[in-house]
Amino acid sequence: MNEFCPKCGSTKGPFIDGFCEKCYLEDHELIETPEEFEVQKCNSCGRVRLFGKWVDFSKENLAVFFEKKIKLKELASPKVEIELIEKESDEFEVKIVVAGEIAGERIQTQKTVPLHLAPITCPSCGKLSAGYFEAKIQVRWQKERDERREKKIYFELKRALKKQQAFDPLAVITKHETVPTGEDIFIGSNKAARIALSQLKKKFNAKILSTKKLVGRNESGRNKYRFTYRLKL
Ligand SMILES: [Zn+2]
Ligand SMILES: [Zn+2]
Repeated sequence: MNEFCPKCGSTKGPFIDGFCEKCYLEDHELIETPEEFEVQKCNSCGRVRLFGKWVDFSKENLAVFFEKKIKLKELASPKVEIELIEKESDEFEVKIVVAGEIAGERIQTQKTVPLHLAPITCPSCGKLSAGYFEAKIQVRWQKERDERREKKIYFELKRALKKQQAFDPLAVITKHETVPTGEDIFIGSNKAARIALSQLKKKFNAKILSTKKLVGRNESGRNKYRFTYRLKL
């Protein structure tokens, strides 16, 4: 006599615990997930908060996160693949495909979970919108002011900062003021300002004088400084 599934009568194997694969999967939840995933997304810079950190909204980053948020049951040597499916703009579903073995039979199953992106302002964007800056660059001319060159410097500075934005969201110009002898440019991140300045220095053959001023303490009690760099041309 041929083996058949006691639930649906199918004689098509493989059989798991006596049931056909389809019926077995109907009665056994192999992928345990929340009903929906919720992730905070900054509505200003577009980054997401994963494992307590603000990171780029990328399929790779999210896949690592969701893989940690699901629980697999019964499957031996499971392999997980996670796909992010965009339904509409900013509306996503997470597709989880799992392959593994149960009682010696290879099995593949999948589940789709909606992803809710909760809009919020991340701390970096919050700081920037409140006029935060760590560094001020003063572009100053020793002789006659060269406005064309000054524009070029500004452009190069912006470009150098842009390269750092992926890992330093404060690497932006927050304010820009023209003064009679040059201009003042305010930058959110001091680290980014320093990297950019080292490039400008070479390119424009400038001298840089730096000073710092104590402005308070940060969250962990360390002294916080604001830096001024005078770019002498
Ligand atoms: Zn069946
Ligand atoms: Zn942000």
